[in-house]
Amino acid sequence: MVPVIALVGRPNVGKSTLFNRLTKSRDAIVADVAGLTRDRQYGEAVWQGKPYIVVDTGGITGDEQGLDLMMAGQSLQAIEEADAVLFLVDARAGRTAGDEQIAEHLRKRNKHTYLIANKIDGADPDAILGEFANLGLGQPLGIAAAHGRNINPMLDAVLNDESLQVTGEEGRVVEPIGTKIAIIGRPNVGKSTLVNRMLGEDRVVVFDQAGTTRDSIYIPYERFEKPYTLIDTAGVRRRGKVFEAIEKFSVIKTLQAIQDANVVIFVVDAREGIVEQDLHLLGFVLEAGRALVIAVNKWDGMKQEEKEYVKTELERRLIFAQFADIHFISALHGSGVGLLYKSVDQAYQAAMTKIPTRRMTEILEDAVSEHQPPMVNGRRIKLRYAHLGGSNPPIIVVHGNQVDAVPRSYTRYLENTFRKVLKLTGTPIRVEYKGSD
Ligand code: GDP
Ligand code: GDP
Repeated sequence: MVPVIALVGRPNVGKSTLFNRLTKSRDAIVADVAGLTRDRQYGEAVWQGKPYIVVDTGGITGDEQGLDLMMAGQSLQAIEEADAVLFLVDARAGRTAGDEQIAEHLRKRNKHTYLIANKIDGADPDAILGEFANLGLGQPLGIAAAHGRNINPMLDAVLNDESLQVTGEEGRVVEPIGTKIAIIGRPNVGKSTLVNRMLGEDRVVVFDQAGTTRDSIYIPYERFEKPYTLIDTAGVRRRGKVFEAIEKFSVIKTLQAIQDANVVIFVVDAREGIVEQDLHLLGFVLEAGRALVIAVNKWDGMKQEEKEYVKTELERRLIFAQFADIHFISALHGSGVGLLYKSVDQAYQAAMTKIPTRRMTEILEDAVSEHQPPMVNGRRIKLRYAHLGGSNPPIIVVHGNQVDAVPRSYTRYLENTFRKVLKLTGTPIRVEYKGSD
């Protein structure tokens, strides 16, 4: 399970500065994909090769109106669902009553909290840090988010903390088998209905399992003797009460499910179309590199002209997800649901594909002779060979020289060529370069 870290603190202490610093890689991906927008509250980040999720709780002021009121809603939910809280205070402003209120709340909730004193630049750290020790959350760790100071020691302390690892492992109650499919989407698009429908299909054998509260439910089953594990973010099938939906929507749970899945079935409501939150969630699917199948649900009872309109809109707004199959389904009536499996299987196969270096290099050579990379500083960029550097998503590692100068458009050309030749439907692919000079 991917650990979740919540940033908590008064306004202006530097939460969004820290959030931006930790989730920098996401900027690059989102900026590169036309039509996607960045989620400023939830971000994916990587530390020592391992992903984690950062949440900027933003909304907490801790000021005069009383903490209970302000901690209602999303921020509170994020704190409750986080594995660890980074409680930021402003080293320059010193300790305030707001800090004390937030500290008290965190102590009461017994959350795993790290006290972080931000903005230690240009000040005497020892003098500043002393006064925050009184908050009852231990000795503060001083950082300067704006300058990147002490960020790595902070991450080391938090993410390499053993208690964090334990939480992650406890969340997993069953060993997933076969293709891991996550059903995700905004509230009310029909996820629960689809989960029931997919499991209600002929010849599905569901194995007994228990659930936990925060995490998604993992449902291993077989369909036509093929193993799958469905990751149910809607929480339909819980121990004992099979058809009762009791969990409400949680972004964190959704992000974790995306991380843990092989294939994501992204459910949208045909009657509502694609909205901002859909684009945020899709951004996470792309960033995680997961295989993707899009299910446009509630297709029943739509008028012909409405259907045409929805199809045109989807084409326009999902340009960045052209690799994914789109199905128009009715989870309620079951139409189109069986076909989803075909796309899921195909996407999984594409995501897990294995190709020998010789074949990869052949494709690269053909692509290059068809369309040469440009000259840089009077020398032509040379791309010599390629190998498959990973799967789910497939990573195509291209070796050559002056690779830093390969233009984005050329990378896209290579991506498209590999996709076409290898028939990689349903999965994003990544092209990376290794320089030899
Ligand atoms: P938030 O309201 O908690 O999200 O705070 P912001 O991230 O918006 O930061 C508030 C202000 O503090 C901005 O003007 C930042 O540039 C500034 N700031 C953030 N981190 C640092 C830091 O490490 N040192 C200094 N001197 N200023 C910082
Ligand atoms: P979730 O919040 O994404 O899990 O959504 P639910 O599965 O709980 O569905 C939300 C509402 O949409 C319920 O009232 C469902 O009966 C309804 N619904 C789900 N799928 C369909 C469908 O294919 N067609 C129609 N007309 N309604 C649906």
